[in-house]
Amino acid sequence: MSFSQFGDKFTRHTGISRLMEDMGAGLRTPGTIMLGGGNPAQIPAMSDYFHQLLQEMHSAGKLTDALCNYDGPRGKATLLEALATQLRNSLGWSISARNIALTNGSQSAFFYLFNLFAGRCADGSKKRVLFPLAPEYLGYADAGLDESLFVSAKPHIELLPEGQFKYHVDFERLPLSKEIGLICVSRPTNPTGNVITDEELVQLDALAQQHQVPLLIDNAYGVPFPGIIFSEARPLWNPNIILCMSLSKLGLPGSRCGIIIADEKTISAISNMNGIISLAPGSIGPAIACEMIQRGDLLRLSEEVIKPFYHQKVLETIALIRRYLSEDRCLIHKPEGAIFLWLWFRDLPITTEALYQRLKARGVLMVPGHFFFPGLEQPWPHMHQCMRMNYVPDAEQIERAVQILAEEIENAWQA
Ligand code: PLP
Repeated sequence: MSFSQFGDKFTRHTGISRLMEDMGAGLRTPGTIMLGGGNPAQIPAMSDYFHQLLQEMHSAGKLTDALCNYDGPRGKATLLEALATQLRNSLGWSISARNIALTNGSQSAFFYLFNLFAGRCADGSKKRVLFPLAPEYLGYADAGLDESLFVSAKPHIELLPEGQFKYHVDFERLPLSKEIGLICVSRPTNPTGNVITDEELVQLDALAQQHQVPLLIDNAYGVPFPGIIFSEARPLWNPNIILCMSLSKLGLPGSRCGIIIADEKTISAISNMNGIISLAPGSIGPAIACEMIQRGDLLRLSEEVIKPFYHQKVLETIALIRRYLSEDRCLIHKPEGAIFLWLWFRDLPITTEALYQRLKARGVLMVPGHFFFPGLEQPWPHMHQCMRMNYVPDAEQIERAVQILAEEIENAWQA
């Protein structure tokens, strides 16, 4: 049996596959402390809410309705209408239901969009996707049909008080040439918890318009929902921006519901791709989201429950880290959003891949930094000095993990 080129590319055993296997093995091994994955927290108030909502929807026949019917290829029409109205009213965006399409998770939206705007073109040219700020979400790395679809730029690093730092877009050195067909940035960023500033976003938007390419903003953690942003950040949309959202970090990753907000031409393209690839996106997540909007709960719960939960958790985790690791040993990216902390072990004598192996041997899983630089073409030692940890597990587990991390860092320095 032999596979096609497509098959070869998409069945390759990449670094991330190995990492996912480790995560799977960790889940099956009692006692492993899992700080590696991207699963959102099961917030008790949200779990109770979903339990109640699903019971009521079931009694009203709404779940059966969703399960027993295909939606159209753009997704559940009632959600498209309700969401457009909600965003028009809460943010003043000039959009209608024709500016929205749903996908089976935002991960599949990136696959569509990257390959829609980059790759080989009819005139023989080749376009690429620019990530203006590495480190960036590792889920983008293998989503191109063509090899070398991505190019990214090193950030400018601002050192901050209390052993923190923040990455900024280095506009002087952005490789923004005719080759670029799409600019993409996650805001908040997975893995760093960075939220690029309003000024940076406006500047990227202006550059994208100047070069006549769309700006994709991955808003999986952002505002107005699920609202996991702790700094001031203004949501931005205009017809040149493609905004991707998701129900996952609201607490519903199993619903696999991604949302694309874009100009009508892009939405119509996504609708056709949905039709070919999956007939229609799944209906259960959209039915739940629609119900939440109609009850006025979507934005309220994001603001009153989800955001404060993660904010408190991140502050507690930073306090724990500082109990075991000094600023000399570990810098922390300013936590402005998302569900991760990004740790920088400056000048560490071993790579974070080696550190990852040592931690794994002691039952702690975190993700070494070098996976998060898709498209960065030049070597950079910084990539091997960072690590991503999920701060969602309970405080005792995090404390145990941080204790072990501090011991391994000390061992590395002593050796
Ligand atoms: N974007 C970012 C930045 C993420 O971290 C994730 C998942 O962790 C996704 C998108 C994918 O989310 P979804 O579950 O909607 O596919």
